[in-house]
Amino acid sequence: MKRLSTRTDSFTDSVIRRMTRISNQYGAINLSQGFPDFDPPKEITDRLSEVAFQGPHQYALTWGAQNFREALARKQEHFSGMHIDPDEEIVVTCGSTEAMMASMMTVCNPGDNVVIISPYYETYGADMLLSGAEPISVPLNPPAFDFDANVLEDAVKQPGVKALILCNPSNPCGKVFTREELQIIADLAVRYDIYVVTDEVYEHILYAPHKHTYIATLPGMRERTIMCNSLSKTYSVTGWRLGYVIASPEITDRVKKVHDFLTVGAAAPLMEAATVGLHFDDSYYLGLQQHYTHMKDLFIRGLRDIGLTFTEPQGAYYVLVDIGEFGYEDDLEFCVRLAEKVGVGAVPGSSFFKEDINHLIRFHFAKNDETLTAALDRLADIRQKMK
Ligand code: GLN
Repeated sequence: MKRLSTRTDSFTDSVIRRMTRISNQYGAINLSQGFPDFDPPKEITDRLSEVAFQGPHQYALTWGAQNFREALARKQEHFSGMHIDPDEEIVVTCGSTEAMMASMMTVCNPGDNVVIISPYYETYGADMLLSGAEPISVPLNPPAFDFDANVLEDAVKQPGVKALILCNPSNPCGKVFTREELQIIADLAVRYDIYVVTDEVYEHILYAPHKHTYIATLPGMRERTIMCNSLSKTYSVTGWRLGYVIASPEITDRVKKVHDFLTVGAAAPLMEAATVGLHFDDSYYLGLQQHYTHMKDLFIRGLRDIGLTFTEPQGAYYVLVDIGEFGYEDDLEFCVRLAEKVGVGAVPGSSFFKEDINHLIRFHFAKNDETLTAALDRLADIRQKMK
């Protein structure tokens, strides 16, 4: 059996979700697994109450209810400018986690290579293990988290490279790739004939002046981009597990087969209720950005006041904090202790890096003001309790 990272092999579940359990065990404020503690938009939950009585309660079409796919195509067309055929080019999945897994199983055969930009979201490691692909890692270099185009090209041109995984905006480092950077990736993808599997779940969580560019919209990329996305973060419904793949019909045809046998389909009543959100106008997305900008500013101001060193994100809702000053050799041990002694949950950075990095931890700030303020109050004692 091939190994994932040491972390993943030695646990029964993802480190992120394990940290939620540890946070709960110690009654810590959970800033580890990234999900909001505020409600989804009322229009969506009101519609869910109606749907409880009106249905649908039985299976939808395996690749997603017709009205949901049509609304998705319309919404994604509006933001990306791409034409998307709701019948041929969308597969609705159980969260972007399934979207990513089904895409990787579609694209990769055992022994293929996949370029992964590090740090990366933990799940990609499992996607590769289950699809049989081998990772070739390209580092993003802190503090700007930029990449060396030559290092990237050396990775992409290795024999057997089938795809590159791109998380934009990035979980965990908060980087928003510029159009120029995406053009470099796109040129390499075209030149070396590989797919780009994207994770764009934070497409609407951006901090000015950063803007999201869909790599699929760059020349030659539409047919080689497999966009994985979800409603979780955009509509604050992480527990609904509504994700989707947008790709060319040749790809979606195969993704549909994997998806059909993996999960049959996403929850029909939830697709029906969430369709309301897909029809929101631009003011909703603007409001979401303002909301997250407020939370980011509150949280990083607090971290700065405590005197911690951290990365300020350009997008998504995570902050990497440097714990080098505490002198721990094991960042997981640090996080467990932090939950126990300080009462705040975090994710050890080593679960996101291919490189040997153990001096970073990840907090998320998708929490209301009271929760964030309470967490910052607790973190104010971090040096007394953790040194
Ligand atoms: N994307 C979130 C995170 O990185 C939640 C992950 C999950 O558990 N699906 O924390």
